[in-house]
Amino acid sequence: MKSRSSFIGASAALLTTFTLMLGSPSPANAETSVHLLLGNPSGATTHASNRSNYLLVKPQYALSYSDYTKIPNWVSWQLNQSWLGSADSQYPDSLDSTLPLGWQQIPADNCYSCSGFDRGHMTPAADRSNTAESNSATFVMTNIIPMAPENAQGPWRDLEEYCRELVAQGKELYIISGGHGTGKTMSSTLLGQSINVPAKTWKVILVLDRPDSGLEGVNAETRVIAVDIPNESGVRNNDWRSYRVTVDSIEAATGLNFLSNVSPSVERTLEARVDNQ
Ligand code: MN
Repeated sequence: MKSRSSFIGASAALLTTFTLMLGSPSPANAETSVHLLLGNPSGATTHASNRSNYLLVKPQYALSYSDYTKIPNWVSWQLNQSWLGSADSQYPDSLDSTLPLGWQQIPADNCYSCSGFDRGHMTPAADRSNTAESNSATFVMTNIIPMAPENAQGPWRDLEEYCRELVAQGKELYIISGGHGTGKTMSSTLLGQSINVPAKTWKVILVLDRPDSGLEGVNAETRVIAVDIPNESGVRNNDWRSYRVTVDSIEAATGLNFLSNVSPSVERTLEARVDNQ
């Protein structure tokens, strides 16, 4: 009986492994993650001593987190039809259990609910609606930065919707976003520190005409949309297009390097152009 039950246990473990493999659109490691196809903008690493630039690669997206600012430095994700469906989250925003032990996170309620700022999800839940598991994975504090409601519910949201329109047209997108600059602060009695609210939120979007073409699908004509939007009141009714900038300017403002896996001449060309489509 004993050997029989351990055999069943082993089979169940094997089955779980296969199910996880099939259920995950991408393996969760830095070398092979589709979410890092264009590069790792800050050279983030998975070593727990790297408190300012800690790499988290999830099946659904990848990010660099800072244990000092308590928000992600950047979040990066692929978007194509395979990520879209009609699934809803099973959970509210919660702490990310995959950070190193002892790292404090911004409590969803203790800070945000009375601060006047929105919990701005970088990878939007609506970009991960293929399964409930995938959708739920966006509701963690490591995917969130404080955003002015007029930005989050205004041009930022409009651009998110435009991205999904591009996907509906058959495109595949590689999106990276985050915030920069010193803005207002948000305080937490539980955390005992003030959180900087980024003065601006930025986004870099590479648009591939054909899904699954990988880096070979990127050339000097590839469309890149970069925006840098004031993270403050007064922007709600403004068109996201009016905030388009070069990738170069976002690299200069953030110290990050985008498109580093693309050939240097193509990278230079794409990063110097302001989208006008
Ligand atoms: Mn670059």
